[in-house]
Amino acid sequence: MKQLLTALIMVSVAFIIGIIYCYYSFPFWTHLKTENFEALTEYNGQNITGLYGRQILINKKFTPYIIEIDNYAQKNNIKLIVNQSYRFNKKTINRAVVNPASVSNHLAGFAIDFNIEYNGVKYFSNNLKRKNIKKLPQNIQNFISAVRKHKNLRWGGDFNIEDPVHIDYPLNLLNKEDWITQNELCHKDFSQGIPKWKIWKNK
Ligand SMILES: [Zn+2]
Repeated sequence: MKQLLTALIMVSVAFIIGIIYCYYSFPFWTHLKTENFEALTEYNGQNITGLYGRQILINKKFTPYIIEIDNYAQKNNIKLIVNQSYRFNKKTINRAVVNPASVSNHLAGFAIDFNIEYNGVKYFSNNLKRKNIKKLPQNIQNFISAVRKHKNLRWGGDFNIEDPVHIDYPLNLLNKEDWITQNELCHKDFSQGIPKWKIWKNK
């Protein structure tokens, strides 16, 4: 009886550890093969990484911009931990009724959400708000200011409803037709995506 109980406890512990491992190891269960994708691609950056090893999926056309963001981060010695890149919606947006201002660039793969890590400290949405900028380390201020000066990129901290952990290329406003097309292409890629089972984080 006692042996049975011990075995039961061990199995339960192993099970719980397994759940925790899977929960925090995104490479294990959420990465997709991207070789055959038309619009989406995986971004493996220097100073931009996915939270818990999440795969960063973006539109291929957003790549030059995310590289520039990565360069700004490198220059300022900060890390962006991305918790959202391309966002999958079950339904694509209806072409006839789409209002460009109300649709997110995440849905076309032209946006990232992130936390900032600098000198071992993490900075979240609250810390990064416009009114708190002056209190931030100079390196973070320089990073944000570089993004704001970029002629094509937007920092979410400048939105009417502040979203300081968001950076995008405003395809929704610049080219509504292309936004719709990219949304559809990304949706098709992601729906047909094949899981890539990576057990170990290779970084
Ligand atoms: Zn966002």
